[in-house]
Amino acid sequence: MQYTSKLPNLGTTIFTVMSALAKEHNAVNLSQGFPDFDSDKKLVDLLSKAMNSGYNHYAPMRGLLELKEAIAKKFDSLYATTYHPESEITITAGATQAISTTITAFVNKGDEVIIFQPAYDSYQPLVELNGGKVIPVQLRASNNFKVNWNEVRARINNNTKMIIVNSPHNPTGTVFSKSDMLDLQELTKDTNIIILSDEVYEHMVFDDLQHQSACMFPDLKSRTFVVGSFCKTFHNTGWRIGYCCAPKELMNEFVKVHQYIVFGIHHPTQKAIADYMQNPEHYLGLSQFYQERRDFFLNLIKTSRFKFVPAKGSYFQLLDYSEITNENDVDLAKRWTIEKKIASIPLSVFNTNGLNEKVLRFCFAKKDDTLKRAADILNTI
Ligand code: GLN
Repeated sequence: MQYTSKLPNLGTTIFTVMSALAKEHNAVNLSQGFPDFDSDKKLVDLLSKAMNSGYNHYAPMRGLLELKEAIAKKFDSLYATTYHPESEITITAGATQAISTTITAFVNKGDEVIIFQPAYDSYQPLVELNGGKVIPVQLRASNNFKVNWNEVRARINNNTKMIIVNSPHNPTGTVFSKSDMLDLQELTKDTNIIILSDEVYEHMVFDDLQHQSACMFPDLKSRTFVVGSFCKTFHNTGWRIGYCCAPKELMNEFVKVHQYIVFGIHHPTQKAIADYMQNPEHYLGLSQFYQERRDFFLNLIKTSRFKFVPAKGSYFQLLDYSEITNENDVDLAKRWTIEKKIASIPLSVFNTNGLNEKVLRFCFAKKDDTLKRAADILNTI
């Protein structure tokens, strides 16, 4: 059959490739980002309770009101901002759907979308599927992956439709400061640029830093979609549930697309999470929890030949292998999975320009035993 691929240069996502390779070679898998411990039994029980209490038909298209109210309450208490549960919050099939629907709803043919690279791998294909053009701004290890906002200013023009930001950042583990957010706000003031703020690691911020949500900056908030994830926060990546928040008019456009992509989200899961969120401790303790995971892992490998700057957020740690080998990171990640039995994600796959900084990404959302087995390997390399 003859057809023209809409994404001719795209293969399978690196996360699937590396997890499959890890499984095939029985390697310790610190590649794809997911915890290897279970979700809280209380939450699982709430899900089965919801299923047994009749939450089995369509949920409202924008999401279960109780859950949206719980989200609104969280934004109010953590970020001192108001989103109206009925009109400004939508529940999605993971953050992935929130991101793809936002891009689909707003990016037209020829529109430019500014993306900071290394960038999470879904952004670019989604922009391109909608006929948009990615305008990359490269972040570099030598500058600790900090954004040069003057560079961003130079990329903004009349065709700029959207800027995608991601803090805490996957894959680098950096976080935006208040001054970064103020720069973003100032640069986009009085423009029609939409901000897609991927904040799925909002509850994993370390060393006493505070998450700077785009919604805390009123002018920025007026043009922003804030995207969040329950799967990351509640250790159940397979549940595929997230949300986004935006001002009413923008959200109405989002929902026009959302209704024909998923219509609504798994109903009992929404009920279970709404109940679970009544206790804020279920997400407020996460930063400390993951900071301990990070420190446990880094302490185990402190005498290895890898160089690193401790991640400030997310559950990813970059390790620089430049003192060990000159090999290309994609080849190396695959070779070490097969030969050394440790799987990671090569950083260069998140860049479009072939920049190879000799850095691999490791996920530390793992049990002590898994991290010890990983460290034992990394210490011998
Ligand atoms: N967000 C996860 C990561 O960065 C992977 C998600 C996925 O596999 N789609 O590893």
